[in-house]
Amino acid sequence: MKIVVCIKWVPNTTSVNIDPKTGTLIREGIPSVINPHDLNALEMALEFKDRYGGEVVVLSMAPPHAKLGLEHAIGMGADRAVLISDKAFAGADTLATSYTLSKAIERIGYDLIFTGQETIDSSTAHIGAQIASWLGIPYIYYVDEISYVNGHLRVRRHLEDAIELYDVNIPALIATAMRANKPRYVNIYGKIRAKKVGVEVWNNSILRLDEECIGLKGSPTTVSRIDLVPKVPRKGEVFKGDSREAVKWLVEKLSQEGLI
Ligand SMILES: Cc1cc2nc3c(=O)[nH]c(=O)nc-3n(C[C@H](O)[C@H](O)[C@H](O)COP(=O)(O)OP(=O)(O)OC[C@H]3O[C@@H](n4cnc5c(N)ncnc54)[C@H](O)[C@@H]3O)c2cc1C
Repeated sequence: MKIVVCIKWVPNTTSVNIDPKTGTLIREGIPSVINPHDLNALEMALEFKDRYGGEVVVLSMAPPHAKLGLEHAIGMGADRAVLISDKAFAGADTLATSYTLSKAIERIGYDLIFTGQETIDSSTAHIGAQIASWLGIPYIYYVDEISYVNGHLRVRRHLEDAIELYDVNIPALIATAMRANKPRYVNIYGKIRAKKVGVEVWNNSILRLDEECIGLKGSPTTVSRIDLVPKVPRKGEVFKGDSREAVKWLVEKLSQEGLI
């Protein structure tokens, strides 16, 4: 079974600043990480491979320094890593991103595709659904368990008020729920393997996509305005006393504020 896992290299948002003039993210000099929810997707793919066999290929569209993230993914156990990187892909909205990823996935070959639930920087949760749509395959979102039964997938979605089970034909795209599992660590052997396996870099002379459909030219979305949410100062009141009095004090405070 050929399994492709899409991972995004994102700015570490705890340290991202916004340009006050343009309202855009200041990415320069910001350390990046693998989108944390994509580690859940990779872990689910690796567990699937451990149980049923197959090959796990990790795929990312990002600037060259995302190699580091893909090496981490190989260190976790991925067999192969492909980085789509070219100035021609820059400025892509979700449509152009998903189109480019779907074309790369076709080139890699696939039975099963995993994505994370959403990213921590743009968080649209569009990419999985759009890739599935480009490829014309089933898409199941928020999956926390997956198995392979009699030639089809059995997937579970654990919702707030229900557990849903689906039988899904392959090929299919699975968006993994963000707390579905605990991603494995990379040990020293994984690090050595990552350096040995290496990352393949594909530019558009390899993918040969029409420049009208990729990057900024292929992106019909425009960001017309960004408003920053004003920071609300915290009162930071601290109550000192025993817990019974503290509860009474807290209840009074909350009711004064009209919160209960
Ligand atoms: C007009 C416009 C211009 C933009 N220009 C840029 C730009 O220059 N640079 C930039 O970084 N962003 C740019 N963006 C943002 C970019 O469109 C999104 O980052 C991208 O489409 C992914 O969307 P998302 O982060 O909401 O992913 P989601 O849909 O929330 O992601 C869901 C899952 O899809 C997968 N995934 C998402 N993105 C990738 C990826 N790149 N590679 C592999 N897997 C992925 C992951 O598994 C992820 O968990 C631009 C957006 C707009 C509207």
